[in-house]
Amino acid sequence: MLVHQAFRYELAPTAAQRAALTNHAGAARWTWNWGLAVRRKAWQRRRQTLNAMELHRLLNRLKRTSRYGWLYEVSKCAPQEALRDLDRAYANWWRSHKQGRRVGRPRFKKKGRCPERFRLTGAIRVEQDAVVLPRIGRVRTKEATGKFCGRILSATCRREADRWYVAFTVEVARPDPVTVTGPVVGVDRGIRTFAVCSDGTRIDSPRALTRGLRRLRRRGRAVTRKQPGSANRRKAVLALARYHRQIRNQRVDALHKATTALAKAKSVIVVEDLHVAGMVRNRQLARAIADQGWAEFHRQLAYKTAWYGSRLLVAPRFYPSSKTCSNCGLLKTTLPPEMRLFSCEGCGLMIDRDLNAARNLALLAGAEAGLVAASSAET
Ligand SMILES: [Zn+2]
Repeated sequence: MLVHQAFRYELAPTAAQRAALTNHAGAARWTWNWGLAVRRKAWQRRRQTLNAMELHRLLNRLKRTSRYGWLYEVSKCAPQEALRDLDRAYANWWRSHKQGRRVGRPRFKKKGRCPERFRLTGAIRVEQDAVVLPRIGRVRTKEATGKFCGRILSATCRREADRWYVAFTVEVARPDPVTVTGPVVGVDRGIRTFAVCSDGTRIDSPRALTRGLRRLRRRGRAVTRKQPGSANRRKAVLALARYHRQIRNQRVDALHKATTALAKAKSVIVVEDLHVAGMVRNRQLARAIADQGWAEFHRQLAYKTAWYGSRLLVAPRFYPSSKTCSNCGLLKTTLPPEMRLFSCEGCGLMIDRDLNAARNLALLAGAEAGLVAASSAET
């Protein structure tokens, strides 16, 4: 089975390479903004939609003029891929728009506000302790690239605080999955814990996250207290970015462990629709970070179930998993969000609210199997 897998390494660039990386990121951002402006204008004036290829042709014409000669200093892939990203952003926007979700249309990228990143394709190579990128050349990595295997499709370079990382999208041959024969499990997003499984196990948010939030706020305040444009402000911004990176790494690590364990041991994993889970969102920092984690949890489960031979089932958007009794099926009309306990007037069941929802999700797998069995019996 051929799958796309990501390999990520931290780079150890020389000063000149660091400058080249920054230039590439700058060219990618500039191209995105330029493409967005041209696209918007073409639409406003002529109701014309310009795609990445048409924009690229315009950009090539522009490159020949002396003012934009600097574009020749970077690999042609960086602007090209930025325009492809723009296409994708528009496509996503249209799709969510049609589905009735409120998603902002593609926006301009402000310097210093958006992650510095760019993508390359073409002649990319991985060596023992280095990577070879078009235009930038051979950049040493901080760790050995021993685990690497497969055909490279693209490389995304990204700056996080003061470090640069490269992530390769690689086509990898994985052993064909053997169907997992474990039990069915429902996973509901918990209120106090990250998630609750129908078998009673809980997936905690990494403790460091909650503990780290106070420090994060403190460092955020430290930034706003410093004089804009000062060296101290820059230092505080860097400290904050480093801290964000640390928390993110811990979170990603914890999520990977949880999703791998589930995908390897359960035959079917049933989760809530992502958008339902996101609706309880509020503006709190902790919650916002947890929301991101939940989307990542979905994403990892989706590909890992395919890798390991289990199945991911997403509940229909209006499935009332938290208001239904998982024992007798009685449906409550309301369930205030602060109620921790689900108590059923029908059968007297008293159960943790999140556990009840998780069990309902698990039941959905059985119901679906029943449906499939019933329809095949008819034919
Ligand atoms: Zn009941």
